[in-house]
Amino acid sequence: MPIYEYICKDCGHRFEALRSMKDADSPIACTECHSDQTRRALSLCYSQSGGHALAGSTGGGCGSCSGGSCSSCGHTH
Ligand SMILES: [Zn+2]
Repeated sequence: MPIYEYICKDCGHRFEALRSMKDADSPIACTECHSDQTRRALSLCYSQSGGHALAGSTGGGCGSCSGGSCSSCGHTH
């Protein structure tokens, strides 16, 4: 079962949840403040890089997961 990362819009808390793929985009409560104002982070790679900055950059990918693991963050090499 894949691990997804979520970010709470209310308190900014970031947490991971082990969910089946079909539940990935369904609402999940924040583990910190129990708000349901959460959104799924695009990927660990993006979030660790501070957001969307790397999405349009040239080069081989997201740096923090160079190599084969990039399949999990949507980059195509
Ligand atoms: Zn929260």
